[in-house]
Amino acid sequence: MMIKKKFTPISDLGEFGLINKITGKFNTQHKSTLKGIGDDAAVLSLNKDLSQLLTTDMLVEGIHFDLTYCPLKHIGYKSIVVNASDICSMNGTPTHVLISIAVPNKYSVESIADIYDGIRMACTNYGIDLIGGDTTATSNNLVVSITMVGQAKPSEITYRSGAKVNDLLVVSGDLGASYLGLQILEREKMIYEQNQTTQPVLDGYSLLLERQLKPEARFDIIRDLQEFNITPSSMIDVSDGLSSECRHIARESNVGISIYEEKIPISDAAVKTAEELNLDPLVCALHGGEDYELLFTVPVKYFDKIKEIGSVSVIGHVTKKKEGVRLVSGSGELLDLEKNSWDSFIKK
Ligand code: ADP
Ligand code: MG
Repeated sequence: MMIKKKFTPISDLGEFGLINKITGKFNTQHKSTLKGIGDDAAVLSLNKDLSQLLTTDMLVEGIHFDLTYCPLKHIGYKSIVVNASDICSMNGTPTHVLISIAVPNKYSVESIADIYDGIRMACTNYGIDLIGGDTTATSNNLVVSITMVGQAKPSEITYRSGAKVNDLLVVSGDLGASYLGLQILEREKMIYEQNQTTQPVLDGYSLLLERQLKPEARFDIIRDLQEFNITPSSMIDVSDGLSSECRHIARESNVGISIYEEKIPISDAAVKTAEELNLDPLVCALHGGEDYELLFTVPVKYFDKIKEIGSVSVIGHVTKKKEGVRLVSGSGELLDLEKNSWDSFIKK
């Protein structure tokens, strides 16, 4: 009798479940590996005054960008920004980058050069040297894989694991705009596909579109925090959505997190567009993702200082682990946030 081997669909585990499954049996073997898997960047000890940060991210056509509405220059620019944002969230400075591309033959030389124009612009803006990479062909979709190197003083590195009970939870900028920008682009694409004589209506959405197509890493916030002499106890960048990032900090720090619904910063433009699209602005802010804002915790003694920094909001606090990650509504109702967020493997 044939014994049928049971295969598990990846969607059963999701992205983080898959990462845990494939990396779980690895142990680090070098003393210099201060942090391996599990944070926004790996941390390697160079000497007692300097550590190296390493992070890698891949952008895949059809998953992370759609050529119908993503200008190639922006794809290049964003591919640098998403990695720089991971270095930023470790409280570090990006220095070098390696870029590998897999190019299908539907692309012209000029298109690839456009992507690299965007890459060059971002490298100039963020002070990063391109030092290598790899170029190969592929059958279907364009893949851009970026590995970024940065540096930081060991004592200043902000891990996901440092949050302490009673710390304040703080986020920069506002949330949900990038997701809503993407919804507008998708809506216009659908209309265009149904009737190719129409022109996309993008006027009035420029703020949201810019957040989706040309985000920036928040090094300005890092500088503000340094000016006020504040080192966050933990930090992460918001790539997968506020609730997912809170779960990462909570898990790595062995704590719970309460977010106050009314304190979550959502721009007027995001609220207006969410209403137009029949979406709940709060859901967009909690689960939307790709905001590339910084989410961090600080000891409560910094409350007054934090208020003086312009574009950050105190949105919650760190609790005991048993309280879990939850949203506290204006009327005091509690919503469990242990599940639901952007995951490229989970079917929507
Ligand atoms: P981020 O969203 O900040 O880029 P990820 O959620 O992609 O981080 O990754 C979480 C952690 O898992 C990181 O430390 C990353 O380096 C690691 N990781 C992700 N995929 C793999 C993989 N295929 N093999 C080994 N480590 C991985
Ligand atoms: Mg990150």
